[in-house]
Amino acid sequence: MFIRRLLVTALNGPRLGCSHVSKRPLALTPRANSDMTKFLEVVSKAKHIAVITGAGMSAESGVPTFRAEGGQWKKWPYQDIATPEAFSRNPSRVWEFYHHRRHLVLTQKPNAAHLALAEFEARLRKQGRSMVIITQNIDDLHVQAGSKHVLNIHGNVMETRCVSCGDVAVNHHHPICASLEGKGSPDPDIPEAQIPVDQLPRCEESNCNGLLRPNVVFFGETLDSHLLTKVEKELDTCDLCLVVGTSSIVYPAAMFGPQVASRGVPVAEFNMTTTPKTEYFTYHFQGPCGSTVPLALARHESEVV
Ligand SMILES: [Zn+2]
Repeated sequence: MFIRRLLVTALNGPRLGCSHVSKRPLALTPRANSDMTKFLEVVSKAKHIAVITGAGMSAESGVPTFRAEGGQWKKWPYQDIATPEAFSRNPSRVWEFYHHRRHLVLTQKPNAAHLALAEFEARLRKQGRSMVIITQNIDDLHVQAGSKHVLNIHGNVMETRCVSCGDVAVNHHHPICASLEGKGSPDPDIPEAQIPVDQLPRCEESNCNGLLRPNVVFFGETLDSHLLTKVEKELDTCDLCLVVGTSSIVYPAAMFGPQVASRGVPVAEFNMTTTPKTEYFTYHFQGPCGSTVPLALARHESEVV
């Protein structure tokens, strides 16, 4: 219900990267606690766990965020290289930038938090319990770690989408096309490649040959409505929620945790610092996710499998 409103908002109003203020009153907890022993008990009893992950997860694997990079690639702020307008104006520049992002993703490995989440999901499955990861990250480090149930709400940089036929395909080739070989340096002193559009990645579906774009949600674009419907269902049915490595400032994802908390369901935040949403949550564990998450998901003495 709540997310249905966010969905409408996402379709009609605020776009990725914009802020949104909910009118629904949300209950605040007096103070999030950090009692790990108590939290382990809560985890051991949960039947379906929703895990929301953000840039902090990837940053610990060495994939910098837009913000951590100073928001620039070469001299361009991300608003000029990760928008639909930028792609139609200069697809070569946008592809060079995403070639660089793909390079970063391909050279990094899942960290201890990614691995702990994947192992936890496998353990839950054996016990007849379940978990879903709802991630804002566009890398595929959760899947690389072995997680099975992952919803990439902002898309996946290792996928392409054809602007003509809409075909979506996983593509790990690097470079993704010959003309991007050695290109994509963030150094502003290195000239841009200015690749002709017919030499950029093209659709391989029969008789299509349309221009491919990264299958990510550009700034200013709406989120996929089918995916948001799935997210809504997960948030409405989980009985525990973990919010991991997200600054909780990018909407609509920033409201996912508070929405779950508003049903009286425990929510635990794992982050380097408190966030604007910490006050809504039952638990807050401060520090690198690679340290706190494995501790929080350790096998509890009551688990028999
Ligand atoms: Zn196509």
